[in-house]
Amino acid sequence: PLEPADLPLAPAYARLGAPFHQPVAATPLPEPRMVHFNAALASELGVDSECGLEFVEILAGSQPWPGYASSASVYAGHQFGHWVPQLGDGRALLIAEVRTPAGQRIELQLKGAGPTPYSRGLDGRAVLRSSIREYLGSEAMHALGVPTTRCLSLVASSQPVVRETVENAAVVCRTAASFVRFGQFEYFAGQGRTGPMARLADHVISEHFPHLQGRPDRYAAWLGEVVERTARLIAQWQLLGFCHGVMNTDNFSVLGLTLDYGPFGFMDRFRQYHVCNHSDYEGRYAYSAQPEIGRWNCERLLQAVSPLLADGPEQAAEIGKDILQRYAPAYHQSVMRGWADKLGLRELREADGKLVNEFLGLLQRSRGDFTRGFRLLARIRTSSDAPAKGVREEFADIQSFDAWAADYRARLRSEQNTDDEARARRMNRINPKYVLRNHLAQIAIDKAQLGDYSEVATLAELLRRPYDEQPEKESYATEPPDYMRNIEVSCSS
Ligand code: AMP
Ligand code: MG
Ligand code: MG
Repeated sequence: PLEPADLPLAPAYARLGAPFHQPVAATPLPEPRMVHFNAALASELGVDSECGLEFVEILAGSQPWPGYASSASVYAGHQFGHWVPQLGDGRALLIAEVRTPAGQRIELQLKGAGPTPYSRGLDGRAVLRSSIREYLGSEAMHALGVPTTRCLSLVASSQPVVRETVENAAVVCRTAASFVRFGQFEYFAGQGRTGPMARLADHVISEHFPHLQGRPDRYAAWLGEVVERTARLIAQWQLLGFCHGVMNTDNFSVLGLTLDYGPFGFMDRFRQYHVCNHSDYEGRYAYSAQPEIGRWNCERLLQAVSPLLADGPEQAAEIGKDILQRYAPAYHQSVMRGWADKLGLRELREADGKLVNEFLGLLQRSRGDFTRGFRLLARIRTSSDAPAKGVREEFADIQSFDAWAADYRARLRSEQNTDDEARARRMNRINPKYVLRNHLAQIAIDKAQLGDYSEVATLAELLRRPYDEQPEKESYATEPPDYMRNIEVSCSS
């Protein structure tokens, strides 16, 4: 195949050439069928259906993107805390880079387009089930305002693939300004190759942190931004009850994007120690552990790039330590401001942490639904001390709820936050009504596996407006029925 670096249209990342990636052609999927095409994203990217491309063919891997050759990247990573010296794009290919009408450069990847030199004996495919979850999950996160990779398309095929059972292969086309992961730096660090590490860091800085270019302390400044972006990203996850599921360093983006949608989940019932990934036996990536894991991952990145920070290892370690110190305050400021916003508070006061924790405790003891619980708070009135009808019934322990609601009203009144309508409007723009609950995804998956893609389309449309009431879709805003409560999602995908 053509060397991506030789092509005039090569993505900036592809022009880096070896040793960062290798040219790999996609293996076409038989009988490709478009399950969903993200027309809104396509028009943002300037590649709408009128642009003359044979989309199904290209997005199924049967044809290259005109003018481009595809490639797979090498990376390493810490998986569930264990060092793995070589991983890489085992089933993802960088296929193109487009310049959007707004002037941004966006990379396109096919996930599930066949084996690569980094497939480690696996098939290079992704099943329809997990592709639907990635497609809907990442678009839902985008609509919720969370930095994330996105999905342009989802193509199904008749290709059988073996997981626990035989399923069909599918391929998503996902997009991001860059897919560079912490693990890319760890790979070169593991081999003691400081040169490529510096080249990659310079690429990331010039392409994605241009304001830092040319500064003598650019590596430290860049890493400081990565640490803070990661902290703020995880604060957003916590505020939405989102659990990533596989927070390995190879799934962490140097742009602070949510990356790699596998066994992720939005919590239904709130449980502090909720573990969404059934392959995570020790609960390493439990909801409550996410902030600390984010910090730990940043520490791994800083350790990897340490040789770029100073000439001597001791001085470099000092600088790295200082950069890591920025994680906790960035996280706490962001998450506390976020909780206050979820409660509709204008100011942030010392005692507000307690108010939040008491509400979460109430939710947990009452087996309350996280998304619904916060959404309903907008109905509490300061104009009256009457019990909050339609809200308190959600809580098994009504008395504790009433006591909390009294404190909450008092807190609102103490900052003259008594325009109930205005506050409700504000809160409803922050507490979503709709998230991609596991059972909703499962219903769409079950139908799609029978060839009916209508529910994928319904969910895609619903989740584009997660804050809108959409009263005709009320049933999508409720907890799963009991028989769908414990859908198991695992690393199998
Ligand atoms: P993940 O747990 O999704 O982050 O995947 C970890 C690593 O395994 C990555 O390097 C993937 O590219 C690779 N991988 C996962 N599933 C497959 C597959 N079916 N074929 C090839 N590589 C895979
Ligand atoms: Mg991954
Ligand atoms: Mg994955």
